[in-house]
Formats: sequence, structure tokens, C-alpha cells
Amino acid sequence: MQEIILIKNGELALKGLNRSSFESVLVKNIKRRMHGLGKFVITRSQSTLTIEPQDDSFDMEEAVDRLSRVFGIAGFERAAAVEKSMDAILSAAPEYLRDVLSGLHTFKVEAKRSDKTFPLTSPQISAEAGGKLLEAFPHLRVDVHHPDIIVMVEVREHFAYIHGNQIKGAGGMPVGTGGKAALLVSGGIDSPVAGWMMAKRGIVLDAIHFASPPFTSPQAEWKVHDLLRQVAKYSGDIALYTVPFTEIQEQIRDNCPEELFTLVMRRFMMRISNVIAKREKCAALITGESVGQVASQTILSLGCTDAVAEMPVFRPLIGMDKEEIIERARKIETFEISIRPYEDCCTVFTPRHPRTRPNLELLEKAEEALPVEELVERAAQGARFELIRNA
Ligand code: ATP
Ligand code: MG
Repeated sequence: MQEIILIKNGELALKGLNRSSFESVLVKNIKRRMHGLGKFVITRSQSTLTIEPQDDSFDMEEAVDRLSRVFGIAGFERAAAVEKSMDAILSAAPEYLRDVLSGLHTFKVEAKRSDKTFPLTSPQISAEAGGKLLEAFPHLRVDVHHPDIIVMVEVREHFAYIHGNQIKGAGGMPVGTGGKAALLVSGGIDSPVAGWMMAKRGIVLDAIHFASPPFTSPQAEWKVHDLLRQVAKYSGDIALYTVPFTEIQEQIRDNCPEELFTLVMRRFMMRISNVIAKREKCAALITGESVGQVASQTILSLGCTDAVAEMPVFRPLIGMDKEEIIERARKIETFEISIRPYEDCCTVFTPRHPRTRPNLELLEKAEEALPVEELVERAAQGARFELIRNA
């Protein structure tokens, strides 16, 4: 008996897109993500992707864990693949399902046969397999309406497959089917979640982080690496550009009205991100902003930030409460990293009374005191590149 993984077409999120190119991207992503677990082969047939380990050392537990983070898969199954005979099915089923079934009370068997030459009909397969399981696990009852588990027996082209309930996948679209965008990532709770949400829609992430040493510490940068490494478990590798931001912040502090510090700074972030994103062929920017969360995130403030963006700015958290964002951050396991106590550049020169109802005229006037283009150019030039790999 060999254990394999089945991903069915119904479990792929594809609707409108070209199915076969969607599937090719997904297969490539799966291969990349399962790298290092041992030899395996992925085949596409009868609207199913099958992942077959090729040696005993293949780490199935780890494979399932990694697969549950691959976008584009709504659900999948671990299954026993056996020879296409009733004898093989009946002897493998109790053995393969022992651990799951011993903890449950009710079950039912459903059979499917795409090979119509198989001597038994689907109802006959179900009845025989059900009988065998009842015999092997006398504590079980059959419940056809609300069973704890549906045991599936599928007779296909080359093998028969036996499996229990579906494992939930990450949903979304395969990363790479949606183009590329640049995530403005801080060490906070919000931006990693925002990146995760866009990656879920099939978008490849680059990341841009603004660092202001010595006001911000190396630990703050390591934290960003750790956050991105966690996001990369879902999104795949992330190209990170760390931008030297100290000079700009000092210039803002020395030359602009205090109540506008944060907004002027955010507009600089946007301008520098424009340059890097265009250079790296990103079609949009992503931030972790949400309306009303802080002074720089009122709709008027967001409007002033948007005014300098030269491409669409996606803010997937825009209508979410902090609680909801935290819940998601916990699920994707970025929360514990985000709450490590290191200062972000945003907290370095925080005004005591930031303006919540800014207007563009005011900001443009304040920025006249600064050599904007020169600062932007220098910062973008000075960005340091690192590739963050999914660990
Ligand atoms: P987060 O939790 O993501 O830090 P926040 O609620 O603290 O967000 P701000 O600090 O105002 O909000 O930042 C708003 C957004 O600006 C962030 O979500 C992020 O996209 C971007 N941003 C803030 N600081 C940085 C930084 N140092 N580098 C890159 N982007 C940043
Ligand atoms: Mg922040």
C-alpha cells in the first residue's frame, strides 16, 4: 500500500482563468514548495493532481503541512493507493484508516468508479467496504446523514484510492497567476497580513522596508526578515529591498511642521516605492493600512498619501478591525513575531499632535523645504536587496 496525495479539480479555485496555465503554475509552486522532502512525482489526469512519493523516506506529514499553505488549493486528500481489486481494497481500508477511525463514532462509505469495467458497482463497493470496516471496528456505527467521516473509495484508471475526510487547503489563487506587487512592510502586525492577503489572490510579492539606523535597531530588521520568511511559506520567495531612511527622517524633523511629520514621511515612502516597484516590474503597491486606525489613516490622510503614488495602492485591510487583523495574524503565525518590541521608523519621530484632516496644499507647501527628488533618488539607489526564501 502506498500513500499519496490527491488534489481534485473541484478543489482548485479556478473559475474564469485559463485552466491549464493556472494548473501549470500551481504544479510548479507545489514542486518548489515540496523541495527537499524526498523524491515525488506529480501527475495530472482525470481532473486530478496526484502527488506520488517515490521513496520511503518521503516526509508525508511535512508535505501535508506545506501543501496546506499553497494558494490555489481549497482542499486535498491523503489517500492509500492500492491495486484495483476488491480484495486489495478490503484489506487496505481498515489498516489505512485505523488511527482516524478509532477516535470516531460514525461513518459512511461512498464509492466512485471512473473505470466502468470494474466488476462491482459503486453501491456494491460501498456496501462491502462498509461491512468490512464495521467488522474491523465494532465501536463504529453507520450514519448516512451526518457521519463523523466519509470514507471514499475511488476506482480510477490505474489504482483504487481509499481516503477519509478532506484536509482544508489555503484557498485563493496560485501565486504567479496575478502579477507582481510591492508590499510596504514594517515590523508591525498589519503589513504582513496585507501581503498574505494579496499573495492569496495569486500575486507575487516583492517587499520594501524603510529602516532608520541608528534610530531603528538591527533587531527591527531581523524581525522584518522573520515576518517575511513566515509570509513566504504561503507566497514563495520574496525579494526584499531595505531602504536607508534616516537622512529623510532627519530632514523632515528639521524642516517640516511637527504635525505633518508622519504624512510627509508616508509620502516619501510612496515616492521611493514608486521607483523601486517600477524598476522591479511591480504593477501595484500594497500597504497594511485600515481606515481610522491612526491619524495617518483617516480617509483624508490616505488621500494625501495616494496623491503621490504612481500606481494602484492596494490596502486589503482597509475595512478590517484590529481584532480581525490580529486573528488572521495569529492564524498565519506572524503575530508572535510582530509583537517583538522593536521600534519601527514610524515611531521614531512621532508628532505629539498629528494632523488628522490634512490637505494636499499644506503638505506640498511643507515639502517645498526639502530636496524631494534628490532624496527619493538617493534612497531608492541605496536600497539593499536580499532574497527571503520560504524556510
Ligand atoms: P503595521 O502594523 O503594518 O506596521 P501600522 O498600523 O503600524 O501598520 P503605520 O505604522 O501607520 O500603521 O503604517 C501603515 C503602513 O505603512 C504599514 O502597514 C506599511 O504598509 C507601511 N509602513 C509603515 N512603516 C513602514 C516601514 N518602516 N517600511 C515599509 N513600510 C512601512
Ligand atoms: Mg507600523
